[in-house]
Amino acid sequence: MSRRFWNDLTVQLEPYTPGEQPQLNNLLKLNTNESPYPPSERVMEALRGLSGDDLLRYPDPGSVALREAVAEFHGIAPDCIFAGNGSDEVLSHVFQGLLKQQRELLFPDISYSFYPVWCQLHSVQYRQVPLRSDFSIAAEDYDPAAAAVIFPNPNAPTGLITELSTIREFLEAAPNRLVVVDEAYIDFGGESAIALLPEYDNLLVVQTLSKSRALAGLRIGLAFGNPELIEGLVRIKDSFNSYPIGVAAQRAAAEAYRDREYFEQCCARVVATRDDLSQSLKTMGFEVLPSAANFLFIRHETVSGKAIFDALRAEGVIVRRWDKPRIEDYLRVSVGTAEQCLRLREVVQGILQKAL
Ligand code: PMP
Repeated sequence: MSRRFWNDLTVQLEPYTPGEQPQLNNLLKLNTNESPYPPSERVMEALRGLSGDDLLRYPDPGSVALREAVAEFHGIAPDCIFAGNGSDEVLSHVFQGLLKQQRELLFPDISYSFYPVWCQLHSVQYRQVPLRSDFSIAAEDYDPAAAAVIFPNPNAPTGLITELSTIREFLEAAPNRLVVVDEAYIDFGGESAIALLPEYDNLLVVQTLSKSRALAGLRIGLAFGNPELIEGLVRIKDSFNSYPIGVAAQRAAAEAYRDREYFEQCCARVVATRDDLSQSLKTMGFEVLPSAANFLFIRHETVSGKAIFDALRAEGVIVRRWDKPRIEDYLRVSVGTAEQCLRLREVVQGILQKAL
């Protein structure tokens, strides 16, 4: 008897489809929102300074030096911080250990497409709540009796920010309902909910070093919460025998947090380029949602999203698109360097000229 899979879960699971990672250099890759700029020179120096002795030992399981550097940056205590191998791993622990309850988890119907996959993997009951007609998230749409709520802020793929006042409404509506704010893109214009941590113990904030700190290749993510919640996450991580972050990644990440100036410069450049790109796309007939992230969510007034997506691909420009109701005509475009955005504009211009 041939048997392709081991159980119902592996047969029924609709896996997450990651953005493509083509290894060809001549492509313009604007599909997975990495930083267009390299990590700080101080980070590169820290990596070059690693010795054989540093690498022959196992890494610090508590990521202490990294958590201290992050704590110093944010002016909070290190015991409020959890570190993992990318925020995807941190989020997987959150779903596995904190969100699997007798009651439902709620998240927006248009948000990070990994959430339903983790729910299936870890048997979390969930319900997706429609975004408002302007794509915003409203606290009153989320049942206070639910076990938990999770949403990206800014939301992905829309780029829209949810203000801290709305996050307060979420937190105050139900003190026993955990609110997880996934701040992968917060450094490009939003206000972090980390500021609310002293007031609310039902808040968990998740961040990544893959975007604003240019370290997607090293896989580092963080969670911020009250020390009991963080201790719970450590127990979950240890129980699932998840590995600590590697030595090189811990060193690089700590240095990235110590170099505040470079971080702020990179974010400011991305924001300036994003706003320029947004303006020029509008003049070409695109609706551009107001973005607080390092990407734009755009829709052309006459040419379909699929047609533009395919034409861009044929020209070697890769962006992201979902075959999903309500957003099938939208494209998500990562903000590159000014030169990359110029090339994007030229290619789009050519496509529209042919199509119209
Ligand atoms: N959350 C959101 C909303 C994201 O878009 C991403 C990036 N795909 C992640 C989390 C995961 O980022 P990473 O695992 O690289 O930290």
